[in-house]
Amino acid sequence: MDQLKSIIDQCDATDARLVAVSKTKPNSAILTLYDEGQRIFGENRVQELVGKYENLPKDIKWHMIGHLQSKKVKYIAPFVSMIHAVDSEKLLLEINKRASQHERTIPVLLQFHIAEESTKYGLELNEAATMLEHLSWEALSGVQIAGVMGMATFTSDIDQVRREFRSLKNIFDHLKSNFFADDPLFKEISMGMSGDYQVALEEGSTMVRIGSLLFGSR
Ligand SMILES: *Cc1c(COP(=O)(O)O)cnc(C)c1O
Repeated sequence: MDQLKSIIDQCDATDARLVAVSKTKPNSAILTLYDEGQRIFGENRVQELVGKYENLPKDIKWHMIGHLQSKKVKYIAPFVSMIHAVDSEKLLLEINKRASQHERTIPVLLQFHIAEESTKYGLELNEAATMLEHLSWEALSGVQIAGVMGMATFTSDIDQVRREFRSLKNIFDHLKSNFFADDPLFKEISMGMSGDYQVALEEGSTMVRIGSLLFGSR
């Protein structure tokens, strides 16, 4: 698929990775990209994610990219490769607990609110800093905080989108130097979707989450 190759080439240029967002799409569509070599897929609903995990090749790395309720963590803890949208201490602790039950360490990203829109989930920098200061998070062996995630405002104003991505990069840099300076695994900035991934890559994204551009509109 030319679209896939083009996106991968753009990601490779800055050492970023592609999460193919397959939500609402059938297994057959996922297998088409799988056959092209894509291995990281993203979903935003727990039930759908579990079903696809059970029915598709086991070397797929499944990323949970959407808002996640604490009570549903247990269903994905056995297999999920990364959880992108951690926006509370409660959720972080639940992931730690469930991962530990499976003797796993799950990489997670802290989701930040960078958009002007008030509908999107996410932490503010000061909330995250407070959480990281008071958690004995080094003892949380079931989670590995691997970086940050955010969604820009849905707008055609590229300058605004760029500002918002830049603010997420600044948040990443701040957390890196204040909390994770000695942790090489804190390295991910998950930002960029079908409409804005090129701007995101220019602003330092290490992981773009792309759905409709690969699979067609939903
Ligand atoms: C759906 C979704 C995407 C992909 O959106 P597209 O515009 O289809 O590329 C990325 N991130 C999250 C969190 C999503 O829910």
